[in-house]
Amino acid sequence: MQANYKVVSSEDINYLSAIVGSDYSLTDTENKLKYGSDYTGDFYFEPALILIPSNTEEISKIVSYCYRESIPVTVRGAGTSLSAATVPVYGGIIIAMERFNKIILLDQRNLQAIVEPGVINDVLQAAAIAEGLYYPPDPASKGSCFLGGNIAHSSGGPKAVKYGTTKEYILNLEVVLPNGVIFQTGANTLKNSTGYNLTQLMIGSEGTLGIITKITVKLIPYPAHRLLLLAYFENIEQACTGVASIFHHGITPSALEFVERAAWEYTISYTGLHREIPEWAQALLIIEVDGNYLEGLQQDCEKIYEVLESHHCREVLYAESDFEKEQIWAIRRKVGEAMKSISAFREEDATVPRAELPQLLKRVKEIGEQYKFRSFCYGHAGDGNVHINILRENLNDREWEAVIHQGAREIFEVCKELNGTISGEHGIGYIQKEYMDIIFPQEHLLLLKNIKLAFDPKYIMNPGKIF
Ligand SMILES: Cc1cc2nc3c(=O)[nH]c(=O)nc-3n(C[C@H](O)[C@H](O)[C@H](O)COP(=O)(O)OP(=O)(O)OC[C@H]3O[C@@H](n4cnc5c(N)ncnc54)[C@H](O)[C@@H]3O)c2cc1C
Repeated sequence: MQANYKVVSSEDINYLSAIVGSDYSLTDTENKLKYGSDYTGDFYFEPALILIPSNTEEISKIVSYCYRESIPVTVRGAGTSLSAATVPVYGGIIIAMERFNKIILLDQRNLQAIVEPGVINDVLQAAAIAEGLYYPPDPASKGSCFLGGNIAHSSGGPKAVKYGTTKEYILNLEVVLPNGVIFQTGANTLKNSTGYNLTQLMIGSEGTLGIITKITVKLIPYPAHRLLLLAYFENIEQACTGVASIFHHGITPSALEFVERAAWEYTISYTGLHREIPEWAQALLIIEVDGNYLEGLQQDCEKIYEVLESHHCREVLYAESDFEKEQIWAIRRKVGEAMKSISAFREEDATVPRAELPQLLKRVKEIGEQYKFRSFCYGHAGDGNVHINILRENLNDREWEAVIHQGAREIFEVCKELNGTISGEHGIGYIQKEYMDIIFPQEHLLLLKNIKLAFDPKYIMNPGKIF
């Protein structure tokens, strides 16, 4: 689906620049390169103009003009998308949200916060913790990604296994629709049974239905204690069968992450952080439990130890100090970045029901042998969500094309066969849309497209994404 877009003229640029002021209107090559690509890396599309507004009314004016003139609009958070969701495929205008960076209210009485979408995830987390409160969604990019981007991608992170993803914490949104109208999706309440749930519809919509300009999030009390274990396994499949078994024994860890040996080794050499993996180990699990009662958490850890031993786990280590815990998390959060430093790569966000993980990983390695690529896997094993980093290394152009199209397709077909899906948290964006047919029949895709058209009949909002 695509419309006939107007080529942005100098009159358009003058009109739009006047809305935000010349300091916040960019047309130079350096900024076009920055805002025309994102962390995904492989894609660049040239925007005609980058606007950095400071309030909702400015956005409404920009968008209503673009709607009238049929100019494509792509909204951008921090640009850490891993599905090329922010690249302006049809050019036009970028609306950058970095000036929407205020925490408007931390409401202790109601355990809520009202924030702007350009607030960095970690900034909200720190502000909440300072009040004894907790905002759990914590993508590994939490030090840079914005809350608006988190909502638009329905982002997760290690804590999702116990606390759920971003969608569990969003109560209400202020949104500018593609025609410039400003509206609230819901109310600042924990319950809301008033027809279609537009708040949840916006979550995961990747900037294709409207621009989020204000967010009400739910907070919870901050748990008093955290214990962290590292468990080492001789093979990948045993590590993954251990994962499902922990839940069967009645324990829901606050994080349960899997890292393949090579991914861990590359990351410690990339970061210079020392936490060597035993020579015999092929995979490790990072397991965290949290809560208010230390004794209960210690019992949970003993149980986890017993369960993992029965899955051939050869060694379990406790992180003794806060420093050690932080160091382990710092390494885990850098795995994606370290993978990017090895070679050109493609990160797939494969997701299956948790107990099917061993089968998924086995099949991924078989597909790798067939297409001659190395893959390093890591991620949120407790959610059945692994990031498969496929490395290009010495593959020539023809072999690499086969890998990222047919090879990736085969991986996603395995996900489907195992009752899983093609993305758990990174979204569809520009690069995963070619696989949508694997998971959705035509009728389903048509329904999605009709929802898009109901919001955006002129198809100006982030065109070229999802479909
Ligand atoms: C090293 C690294 C680790 C990562 N780890 C994780 C992880 O653990 N879990 C996870 O889920 N993701 C992870 N990601 C992916 C990424 O950080 C998330 O998808 C994040 O939510 C994107 O936020 P952003 O502000 O960078 O959004 P952007 O990349 O700028 O935009 C993403 C999408 O959101 C839309 N958007 C942005 N702001 C708005 C708005 N105000 N209104 C409407 N639409 C908007 C954009 O149009 C685009 O479609 C990781 C990325 C990196 C680089």
